[in-house]
Amino acid sequence: MVTQCDNEDEAPPIRPLIGVSRCLLGDAVRYDGGSNRVPWITDVLSSHCDFQAVCPEIEAGLGVPRPMIRLQGTPARPRALLQMLPVRDVTNGIAAASENLLAGIGNLDGLILKAHSPSCGPVQVPVIETSGQVAPGVGLFASACRAKWPRLPIIDETGLVSEAGRVAFLIGVFRYHCRQHLPLH
Ligand code: SF4
Repeated sequence: MVTQCDNEDEAPPIRPLIGVSRCLLGDAVRYDGGSNRVPWITDVLSSHCDFQAVCPEIEAGLGVPRPMIRLQGTPARPRALLQMLPVRDVTNGIAAASENLLAGIGNLDGLILKAHSPSCGPVQVPVIETSGQVAPGVGLFASACRAKWPRLPIIDETGLVSEAGRVAFLIGVFRYHCRQHLPLH
């Protein structure tokens, strides 16, 4: 069956909206004042989708530069600790900032987040357990996004390195977009 989204002659009425970690767009918002611009996102994907830039650590008022954050505790409920003397627990600040960002974001069709970030990382973020072992966890903002949009396509930039990864993500984004905006039946 051919749906409106399968027909190349009929473009969706609205471009997909993708949330993107600001550092991946080239904004110098990393803790060390740098960025992680991904040219495929800024130079290619930008021709087909609109972006909503997000940086939960800036939203939390942590500024640039700032000490690095580490996640500690259990992967299910980690604490975000600013690596300064003494160590500062910024878990509640980032959680509140995440809620503010989510409240202000429109209907996203996908989300591209910075890999391994204690705030943005969607998978495999190191969490230092009380035993000293390192376990895989999820960044605080990514976790809030997943709770709000359980079916939203979410990926980090490492998943967009291969053509297969890009195609799979875009299929998910456009499918989600169609479900939200187009009457398919
Ligand atoms: S909080 Fe997210 S958007 Fe901001 S610098 Fe860290 S990884 Fe990038």
